[in-house]
Amino acid sequence: MTAANDANKRLLVRGAAAVLTGAAPTAPGVPGAARSDATDLRIGADGTIVEMGRGLAPLPGERVLDASGCVVYPGWVNTHHHLFQSLLKGVPAGIDQTLSAWLQSVPFKARGSFAREERLRLAARIGLVELMRSGCTTVADHHYLYWPGMGYDPSAVLFDEAERLGLRFMLLRGGGTVARGAPGELAAHDRPETFDGMLAALERTVARFHQRGARTMRRVAFAPTTITVALQPHELKPAARAARALGIPLHSHMSETVAYYEHCAERFGGKLPIDVCAEHEWLGSDVWFAHLVHLSPAERRLLGESATGIAHCPQSNGRLGSGVAPAPELARLGARVSIGVDGAASNEAADMLSELHAAWLLHRAHAGQASRPRPQGRGEEGADAVTVEQLVHWASAGGAATLGFDGVGMLMPGMAADLAIWSLADPRHFGLHDEALAPVVSGARPRLEWLLCNGRVVVEHDAIPGLDLAQLGHEARAAVREIAAESL
Ligand SMILES: [Zn+2]
Repeated sequence: MTAANDANKRLLVRGAAAVLTGAAPTAPGVPGAARSDATDLRIGADGTIVEMGRGLAPLPGERVLDASGCVVYPGWVNTHHHLFQSLLKGVPAGIDQTLSAWLQSVPFKARGSFAREERLRLAARIGLVELMRSGCTTVADHHYLYWPGMGYDPSAVLFDEAERLGLRFMLLRGGGTVARGAPGELAAHDRPETFDGMLAALERTVARFHQRGARTMRRVAFAPTTITVALQPHELKPAARAARALGIPLHSHMSETVAYYEHCAERFGGKLPIDVCAEHEWLGSDVWFAHLVHLSPAERRLLGESATGIAHCPQSNGRLGSGVAPAPELARLGARVSIGVDGAASNEAADMLSELHAAWLLHRAHAGQASRPRPQGRGEEGADAVTVEQLVHWASAGGAATLGFDGVGMLMPGMAADLAIWSLADPRHFGLHDEALAPVVSGARPRLEWLLCNGRVVVEHDAIPGLDLAQLGHEARAAVREIAAESL
């Protein structure tokens, strides 16, 4: 498998039917910088976009990618995932369970199956391939399977698999110090790390993998799995300070279901989850949380005022019956909004495009459900709850801003050439008056003609060069049988 077939080659993408840039729309119905008049993009040997315009002529040595009949989107930035779960889709015991029960029946129960490095490697490869085929070029993976003496370094495996496929990768280093049960009874793979051990491992991982720069390919964040559950209360503040001392951002799960309120009430003297975060230095422009579904009005304001980020995971929140996160409201209040697919054990489609399609429908339905007849209410409403341009922004530039990448996520000169060229050759796209909308509104993945990450072609004519998908499927089926027999 090689993603580097076009490494160091200069490219000219020419003749696109439409280009969405990933910039925030000016207002609902006013795309502004979210849409470009350009049909052509010139990409330099350094992997950046060097020019955008119409009728650009090829320069000597440039390879031309014919984008006629295609729309160009920014490569997606997925800000929350659990790649190991790519081998835990649709586990029957958890298919109709809510979060707390599902955690016990599926991801926690299967931990021991990932004591083998090859298992994690296969799961990561499947998840990354799925994401690439949905147009994703930056993946932030929240990995929390770490235990003392586990025999291999999962972080290294994840970075390696992403690099082989040519993707930009950010490790969200999870884990925790609180055991789920009496220590004496725990299997090796259920033993928690010590706080000092966790910080020492984090420091080693940062030293080995973290690259500083606007469009680097490897980053690390500190991401204890769920800070109000997986850490001791006195560890929250030192954890935040340790990450800031290393110059890396902070991430965790938060307020996914009402169980978060119950945990906080029990462990933090009746306080609300976001108040606990505020008190322990876990809010700010270098922090983002997955989910944020259940929030009081005051908690929403706190998140907005502190410019804290959200990895909005609408499909996983729907699948587990968690609810609908108030992402449009959080954006209005000043929070940074991004999109994550979450792990495939709670979202069988680890697909950024279907995530956006779901969000597009869900927020409109949710807003419309709250409509009331005039004069008590405002009559019909809901269809402008979130626009295609807003969603594209959240899933690209919004994601890059959430993760802290300054040179990624937007199609404009000087930015990384991370972009997807979607072909509109399917009958479901015929008849569209505004072709720019097609990948989000049509509800199925268009053919991905090319995907570029940092200026390198990583998908070509809907295939990943050198990857045998049938073989990957064969290996996945064998692994599923083994995991079901040994863990579930
Ligand atoms: Zn998650």
